[in-house]
Amino acid sequence: LGPTIVVGEILVEIMARTRGVGFLEPIDLIGPFPSGAPAIFIDQCAKIGGAAGIIASVGDDDFGRLNVERLRRDGADVSAISVSPDYPTGSAFVRYRADGSRDFVYNIAKSAAGLLALTADAKAMIARAGHLHVMGTALAIPEVWAILDHAIGIIKGRGGSISLDPNLRKELLGGQTEERFARLIDVADLLLPSGDELFVAGKADGEAAATAALFGRAVTEIALKRGEGGSTFFGADGSRIDCQAFAVDEVDPTGAGDCFGGAYVASRRLGMPAAMALEYANAAGARNVAVLGPMEGAGSRRELDAFIATTPRHGV
Ligand code: ADP
Repeated sequence: LGPTIVVGEILVEIMARTRGVGFLEPIDLIGPFPSGAPAIFIDQCAKIGGAAGIIASVGDDDFGRLNVERLRRDGADVSAISVSPDYPTGSAFVRYRADGSRDFVYNIAKSAAGLLALTADAKAMIARAGHLHVMGTALAIPEVWAILDHAIGIIKGRGGSISLDPNLRKELLGGQTEERFARLIDVADLLLPSGDELFVAGKADGEAAATAALFGRAVTEIALKRGEGGSTFFGADGSRIDCQAFAVDEVDPTGAGDCFGGAYVASRRLGMPAAMALEYANAAGARNVAVLGPMEGAGSRRELDAFIATTPRHGV
């Protein structure tokens, strides 16, 4: 029915090489790496072989070109990425504390990412799209919501589908963002929650109650991300499939959920059964945490097949 599309921020990430050191003195950094949750998602989609495109905005600089060239090389449609002459591509500096938690310094608010608009190229991409993937964080950004609102109506109107990665943060709940989230829950076919997002989305405490509440709406399937615990598929017909995580050394967890989502959505849209899509998604998530850089672990179908064939699983 047409490509999978996503809307949102593109940026670069620059990382501290060593855990436990702060940004209060000069340290060894590595980067820039292409980044931005929507960009990571769509790169993994395209790499697995699904038609995929992104609506985004970058600056007229090497950080922007790095992203656009990577996405293009990996097979994504970059025709709706606009180039701002006035603002730079956003960036994020990240370091890991000794306990593994992350500390970010962002330069995004006044970057090209804030200039997202419904351009003629964006409209054309939406007009040919068959699936829209929405990141919950986008709901708080007025420019992104305006584009999503337009895209939801058009894509649903022509029989397309919608997936939602809730990315819920407490500060996003309440007011307009919560209303937008409720609207999305009413139109989303596929949900990709992690942690307790399933319970927040389903407004219930247990898995059974939360999934039942969601299946009473438009949702027909849920792929629950459990980090090192792997993932679980829930179908509207009551089916459930558990998939154990691959055993890898976690080097950099940024982007795992986005790679998981990109692989899952693309695999399902290519017609694979849920169990197979879950397997590819688990592999994409695990490959991603095992390397430095948020998008560096995204894999082609062949790379994911090789990873699945050679990597042991947790608990086996
Ligand atoms: P999110 O980033 O959205 O919270 P997760 O952290 O659950 O998502 O990661 C998504 C998927 O990536 C998991 O379901 C799992 O398949 C894989 N994954 C994440 N972390 C690890 C890990 N440490 N080891 C193996 N697989 C992982």
